[in-house]
Amino acid sequence: MQLDGSRTDGNGDGNGRGDNGAADVQAAWTRVKRRLRAELGEDVFASWFARLELEDVVGGIARLSVPTRFLKSWIESHYIDRVLTTFKSELDDVVRLDVSVRGPSSSPRPAAAAAKPAAPTGAVVHYPASRPSASAPGVAAGAPSDAGAAARSATGDASGGDLSSAPLDPRLTFASFVVGRSNALAHAAGERVSRHDGEGALYNPLYVHAGVGLGKTHLLHGIGHAAREAGRRVIYLTADRFMYGFVNALKTQNALAFKERLRAIDLLILDDVQFIQGKSIQAEFGHTLNALIDAGKQVVVASDRPPTELEALDERVRSRLAGGLVVEIGTLDEGLRASILQARLAAVRVTHPGFDVAPAVAAYVAKAITANGRDLEGAVNRLLAHSTLTGAPVTVETAEAAIRDLVKNREPKRIKIEDIQKLVASRYNVSRSDILSERRTAAVVKPRQIAMYLSKVLTLRSLPEIGRRFGGRDHTTVLHAVRKIEKLIGDDPVLGDEVELLKRMLQD
Ligand code: ADP
Ligand code: MG
Repeated sequence: MQLDGSRTDGNGDGNGRGDNGAADVQAAWTRVKRRLRAELGEDVFASWFARLELEDVVGGIARLSVPTRFLKSWIESHYIDRVLTTFKSELDDVVRLDVSVRGPSSSPRPAAAAAKPAAPTGAVVHYPASRPSASAPGVAAGAPSDAGAAARSATGDASGGDLSSAPLDPRLTFASFVVGRSNALAHAAGERVSRHDGEGALYNPLYVHAGVGLGKTHLLHGIGHAAREAGRRVIYLTADRFMYGFVNALKTQNALAFKERLRAIDLLILDDVQFIQGKSIQAEFGHTLNALIDAGKQVVVASDRPPTELEALDERVRSRLAGGLVVEIGTLDEGLRASILQARLAAVRVTHPGFDVAPAVAAYVAKAITANGRDLEGAVNRLLAHSTLTGAPVTVETAEAAIRDLVKNREPKRIKIEDIQKLVASRYNVSRSDILSERRTAAVVKPRQIAMYLSKVLTLRSLPEIGRRFGGRDHTTVLHAVRKIEKLIGDDPVLGDEVELLKRMLQD
């Protein structure tokens, strides 16, 4: 037939169906990006997703690529569940995402044309749909997965079901939370709040802040468990999940149901609130906070910084957050580390009765690992692996070898200016020689200034020395760059996050 003939002509022999499939995939991807843009806002989208491309979808695996390692790392740590969920709801046979770094020369190709995708230059990491959320690494197997729950709600639940609580890790209870000087106040406040019966809120909100691995999430889950046992209606959310739920509710015109649902609870627990971003979302967060607190409902919030330093939130929201009880969990002292370690060891012994760690070994580990509870947990896992693999008892010597890299983390790493230049260049898709050059185009000036700023804050080099290492510039140029970036970071939370992540990448 004439018509059929002319159609297959364009597509080549026998693969018309496949091309249509690819075109569908491409169309789905376009919708995914459009939704991400709508949900996350123009700023966030432009920063993280504008250069995210779909290579292909094969066997349920959507292969995505970005131009830099930095973007890969950021998307993986912050948005992978969201991208997967969104993709799944557009194309339900997508079960997993692979994000890779595409080579500098390979321009992104549309999925429809991707007969054989460009070889990725970076490691490919697999994200099964059941991957627990990054902020709750300990979520027990069998608990409903974040992605799963989100995917269910993404299909549109007329009852406002977007707001399902994230699962509470059964291991993170008050019973397993070791109390010491640095966390006693936070713990006491948490206990009081979990027993609070709604008769005039006590400390509302309770705002807990601390560095990474110091037990915020553990405490929050503990509060959640205790309150549920006491018959309270509890919703535990990470900031991401809150944003997701709200944005989704808006999209399905369920915002009212979302709010009603929030207001029907007794206790809202919000983890990692520093990630709340976006104008409409933070406004909604502010309303939610006010409504709950005014109704005498308890709110508990955790963050990596005090409320005053939540730059992404507006002043009123910050002061509302600061208006209850603000407690900091300090660094773990050696006694507390020893107790946490003992508790972890005891927990592991339930499943591995043969696992025996002599007191001298435990004492060594508690002394050596100073950074945080997460590293202590890591150390226990190392020792366990050692003991199961060799069958030999763990000695101080073997422990030393097993946890060496965790111990090293303790001493601030010596960071080289050259490494800073390389990393910043790769993040901004320029070359290191561009950074050292005289060029003054915006595309080069900003990364150059960021690299100078990082050199100042991460190394002990003087301004003149830094100037020399940046193609022989004057120290006043470096000073100008440092001040400029300091100011920009203060004004622009997206840039602030970016610089913070660069710092972290350089430090570990
Ligand atoms: P954060 O949320 O502050 O980054 P987490 O709550 O995830 O930290 O804690 C990291 C690890 O350290 C977890 O395994 C947690 O159980 C453990 N941990 C931290 N503080 C304590 C504590 N006081 N008692 C028992 N375990 C703790
Ligand atoms: Mg946490």
